Amino acid sequence: MARVLVVEDEPAIAELIALNLRHQGFEVALAANANEAQTRIDKVLPDLVILDWMLPGTSGVQLARRWRGDPRTREVPVIMLTARAAESDKIAGLDAGADDYLTKPFSPAELQARIRAVLRRRAPTALDLPVEVGPLRLDPGSRRVTHGQGAAVVELKIGPTEFRLLHVLLSQPERVHSRSQLLNRVWGDHVFIEERTVDVHIKRLREALAPADAQAMIETVRGAGYRLVAQPVGTIDHGDGESGA
Ligand code: CA
Repeated sequence: MARVLVVEDEPAIAELIALNLRHQGFEVALAANANEAQTRIDKVLPDLVILDWMLPGTSGVQLARRWRGDPRTREVPVIMLTARAAESDKIAGLDAGADDYLTKPFSPAELQARIRAVLRRRAPTALDLPVEVGPLRLDPGSRRVTHGQGAAVVELKIGPTEFRLLHVLLSQPERVHSRSQLLNRVWGDHVFIEERTVDVHIKRLREALAPADAQAMIETVRGAGYRLVAQPVGTIDHGDGESGA
């Protein structure tokens, strides 16, 4: 379930957004000003922030800029809410690092569409959509992982941590994920686990994929991390020294 932080000083608007998002299955936290928002985000990193431009004290734009400058919060998607519609204001919001913006008043349907679009682009695992790369398919709704098509479909048995790990890797195929990125996304932010733990679960994930002969789809990138590929280099014999390790 995706966590959304709503930063809005007008209680009526904040409540309306919260009600709507909770109804859609999102977990919602509220903050009425920049200090509250910072306290929230220091505790738990949300999957997305809805940020009002006009806040008492520190403005939404200043807050967005601060978060973009901090390695911990840099990647958190931000949708800016604004009562202004002037072109220069929109540009200022996007310059501050917002992924999208919405001009008040907006309809709940519009807000949802923007949230889904931003999550699809920036945090696809926050949405419960099936993901598939080559013959490998993961369905968060039914918690199933399958390989192959038609009569040749094999269901793979996979542990909960390996499931989340595979979900992250499948959502951004070909991209290299560092161990610390995987720790944040799979185990959660602020969890102190050794990076070696990632290697242990990658090994288990490869073992879980082995019955479908798909273990080589998880590649080790030396000195960088791991990535999932549709066409493993190992299959054309490029010396996949890692696949059985
Ligand atoms: Ca406001």
